[in-house]
Amino acid sequence: MTGSRVRPDALDPPDPPGMAAMPVPLEAEVCGDLVVGRPPADEIRRHIGYPAHAVPGTTVAERIQAVTDESAAVLRPRGAFAIHGVTGQTPHRLLVERVTIRGDVARFVGAADRIAVVVATAGAGISELADRYNAEGDSLGALIADAIGSWAAEATADAVTDRVKTHAGPGEAVTLRYSPGYCGMAMTQQAVLFGLVDAEAAGVSLLPSMLMQPLKSVSGIVGIGPAAGPEAVRLESPCDACGRVNCHMRR
Ligand code: SF4
Repeated sequence: MTGSRVRPDALDPPDPPGMAAMPVPLEAEVCGDLVVGRPPADEIRRHIGYPAHAVPGTTVAERIQAVTDESAAVLRPRGAFAIHGVTGQTPHRLLVERVTIRGDVARFVGAADRIAVVVATAGAGISELADRYNAEGDSLGALIADAIGSWAAEATADAVTDRVKTHAGPGEAVTLRYSPGYCGMAMTQQAVLFGLVDAEAAGVSLLPSMLMQPLKSVSGIVGIGPAAGPEAVRLESPCDACGRVNCHMRR
């Protein structure tokens, strides 16, 4: 981000006492009509943990196809987003009125003048399918169903993010999506994000453990702002400079 975007009155402000009043979004949408399509076999293999060019044996490949077929009936992609104005920013904090999002993500989005908080879910059915396979002693089927759920949650979040992009104006861009637990944003920030978007409307709730229910859900933020110039948002990936070499979110 550029130094000019750091507002002196926003430099490391103290947290407000008690629960901060939740800001009213500039725009918000519940997306109940999302389509993610058929899970690609290479993406399922990646989520299982296969190296990029490894080819599974016939038994595993056929099982991936069979579980993928069965998953079509249980995937329920839904999501929601809320766009808020950024009222202050330092390299490690984003302010939305009296709410503070902490972490390096503030630096990664660059000089965004708005953020969209995104929540998305593949639904509970895919985890229930994995549980059923496990109960039947089919650990390979359970592993594949779990991988399909992980892929579907990310694909749903991508679809919600695509909706956010329709709210960017001419000359504006939308950054990569950053999620709690990755990219310098602690899992505890999940609670902050859930205060900025109507996740319940998309059927997603936050557990005290900071995990989401349904389990195969994704939350995150994207920055929205000028695509070029000194106040431009950052569009490049921070992954090249990140030490988490085995991060499955690497892009
Ligand atoms: S590898 Fe990339 S996606 Fe993963 S934590 Fe690092 S910056 Fe984030």
